[in-house]
Amino acid sequence: DLQLSDRVQQIKPSPTLAVTNRAAVLRAEGKDIIGLGAGEPDFDTPEHIKKAAIDAINNGFTKYTAVDGTPGLKQAIIGKFKNDNNLTYAPNQILVSCGGKQSFFNLSLAYLNPGDEVVIPAPYWVSYPDMVIVAGAVPVFIDTDMSTRFKITPEQLEAVITDKTRLVVLNSPSNPSGVAYNLEELAALGEVLRKYPNVLIASDDMYEHIIWSEGGFCNILNACPDLYDRTIVLNGVSKAYSMTGWRIGYAAGPVKLINAMKNIQSQSTSNPTSVSQVAAEAALKGGKECMVPMLAAFKERHDWLTAALNELPGVECVSGDGAFYAYPCFKGAMAAMGIEDDVVFAEKMLLEAGVAMVPGSAFGTPGYMRLSYATSLDVLKAAVERLKAALA
Ligand code: PLP
Repeated sequence: DLQLSDRVQQIKPSPTLAVTNRAAVLRAEGKDIIGLGAGEPDFDTPEHIKKAAIDAINNGFTKYTAVDGTPGLKQAIIGKFKNDNNLTYAPNQILVSCGGKQSFFNLSLAYLNPGDEVVIPAPYWVSYPDMVIVAGAVPVFIDTDMSTRFKITPEQLEAVITDKTRLVVLNSPSNPSGVAYNLEELAALGEVLRKYPNVLIASDDMYEHIIWSEGGFCNILNACPDLYDRTIVLNGVSKAYSMTGWRIGYAAGPVKLINAMKNIQSQSTSNPTSVSQVAAEAALKGGKECMVPMLAAFKERHDWLTAALNELPGVECVSGDGAFYAYPCFKGAMAAMGIEDDVVFAEKMLLEAGVAMVPGSAFGTPGYMRLSYATSLDVLKAAVERLKAALA
């Protein structure tokens, strides 16, 4: 029998990708399935971005690049941080990777030792705990629920920090809750973090541009500029520019850390795809007009879906600030059917309603369901009709 590493046996395949696959299998069997599992925008990559990549291919820009990214893309990222976030970075503080996922993976492997603790607020992006575990470290969760709109409080943060804590992960707007922190809330969390100088902060800003809350986007460094030396900012073009398949993410932070992450990357993937880097540079330099229609569509769907979910019996949904996920509580509906396990419930909805949702237990908060609204309003309306019938 083939013996696998202890490491790989501690992690699971991404549950969100699993739901998408399960829906695809049922569809192939001829079942009519509405998939609300996807974590990617339903729009095409904007034309000027695609054109830049096509030109790059035609111009022969098809070889290895610098491991940490082309100088042109790094300059575009530096400009983006300056203009959008009022943050200043030098080129040696930037690492471009094969998607935001690799950025966090590099961080985990370059920074964490076995036994180190990583604070992760739940609900969380499914990949954080598993990447931390691959590095031998220990995820420590802070539970939240809809009563605080899934935001952690300074008291909760303080209560989980120990002398083993090395990293705190913040993700705003959040996948899966869609909720964003405002400046005051981040300042209050920063006040706690300030007391623990050995703790690094990872700010995952992947959904920065998909936001409609009052005050707009901000991150912990906007609230607490003094934490600059121990914060790593993670971002990418995947969600903002509908570029999930191009696989470009980036990290910005302390030189020593970025260098270590670059070493990990140089011994795994080397540079991210040359052509994709040209596309990402065009995206970051090309202005934000292309985001406007996408943002408007997400907002319209958010408003409609949140209201419609709240009409369903036993379902409650808080309003989100951004991203493209609704994260309603189905505990009432589950209880009415005598179901305790949200994975069982999600499977029942998949088979009986033909609607694929990701159960909240995948994100560390059982009893909720994540519905992606990166799909048309008509599809969302059909999905809600089906859920209504199945719950009646
Ligand atoms: N961070 C969050 C919160 C995400 O939801 C995702 C994608 O789902 C990523 C990072 C990584 O994005 P990618 O690797 O596609 O660039």
